[in-house]
Amino acid sequence: MQLPKDIQKYCVNKVLKRIIPCVLMFAVLLIAIILWGDILIPLDSEYVGLKRFCYLVILSIPFIVTRVPIALFDRTYCGTVKKVDIETTPETYRPAEPTLETVYMKNTIYLNIETHNGKKMRKKVYTGRANDAQHLSTFKEGDKVLHLRETKHTVVLPTSSSAHCTCAVCGSVNKIDNTACHQCKHTLVKG
Ligand SMILES: [Zn+2]
Repeated sequence: MQLPKDIQKYCVNKVLKRIIPCVLMFAVLLIAIILWGDILIPLDSEYVGLKRFCYLVILSIPFIVTRVPIALFDRTYCGTVKKVDIETTPETYRPAEPTLETVYMKNTIYLNIETHNGKKMRKKVYTGRANDAQHLSTFKEGDKVLHLRETKHTVVLPTSSSAHCTCAVCGSVNKIDNTACHQCKHTLVKG
């Protein structure tokens, strides 16, 4: 599927906005370690292993702060829903330490998706309080769905009988006749 130019640009910009600060922060920390490493971590030469570990921790800060690894893991995908799995689980996974939170249950929606070139994937598309019962009927088998990297949404692309179209960038619902989203002004992807 060929995405509109403005959406391609949006995705590239979102990734760059994460990677550029990460690289800059990494460079600053690296220079600081090279220039003032012994002052920053004043350990004797016998603790060289510990010193290197401290440097490694310092240099990993940019990746944690900017969440670059997570961003690179999140990819744009488009495909047909083959199966919808809704799992209802306790909100905390610490049954050995029961807290007040254990009384809450959450719904997690997973989609088994097949892309146009036959690749199969399982994606988590929603997590929320079970009491809210939101989005339980949003996704159906046979729906064509789209997720853009660096967005929180996975949207169902409209069919010929749809009256609405959800924006893949911001998740706003638009009239099917609209070509651009009324909220974020990006081109609406209609499949
Ligand atoms: Zn939008």
